[in-house]
Amino acid sequence: MEHEKITTIYLDMDGVTFNWLEATAKLLNIDLFADENSYRPIGERASKREIWKTIGKMGESFWSTIPVMQYGKDLYWLCKSCVEDVIFLTAPSEDPASLSGKSKALREVFNCRAKDVIFANDKWRLAKPNTLLIDDNEGKINDFEKHGGQIFLWPTPLGSYDTYKQDIEIAFDILSARLYAN
Ligand SMILES: [Mg+2]
Repeated sequence: MEHEKITTIYLDMDGVTFNWLEATAKLLNIDLFADENSYRPIGERASKREIWKTIGKMGESFWSTIPVMQYGKDLYWLCKSCVEDVIFLTAPSEDPASLSGKSKALREVFNCRAKDVIFANDKWRLAKPNTLLIDDNEGKINDFEKHGGQIFLWPTPLGSYDTYKQDIEIAFDILSARLYAN
């Protein structure tokens, strides 16, 4: 399929550039990779209510200190070197502290200003033929494509951790090829 030239990249935070999972697991004292060959989603280890209650107690400091993914800066700079307009597009939680916390994290790690981030749950509202969404949420990716945007589904650590590391490498290769051809 012929794609239009990408002029804007929308980059997800949680699960793509920032390690929400690691931060949440640490907060709840859960070892996600206790069994190195079988990763179990955090949703199977703690209830949604417990997860959000614990995060809620931390307030802004949880969101502002989520560690950047090991490869997060490389991913950002890969995007930035190919497409000038790279915007973080991230869904806030129901807690307003997530907006200020995420803004702080972006400023700290990527030197982002307010204009460099959009907070939206319905990411599809920004879909256009010349925009690319990089996200690990399949539902959001599908909706974005349905509304005419271009998509790149980022890997999630389902299955084994080794597979995940490999998946990330493959994702970098495919994305680089696509962006360099843009
Ligand atoms: Mg995500």
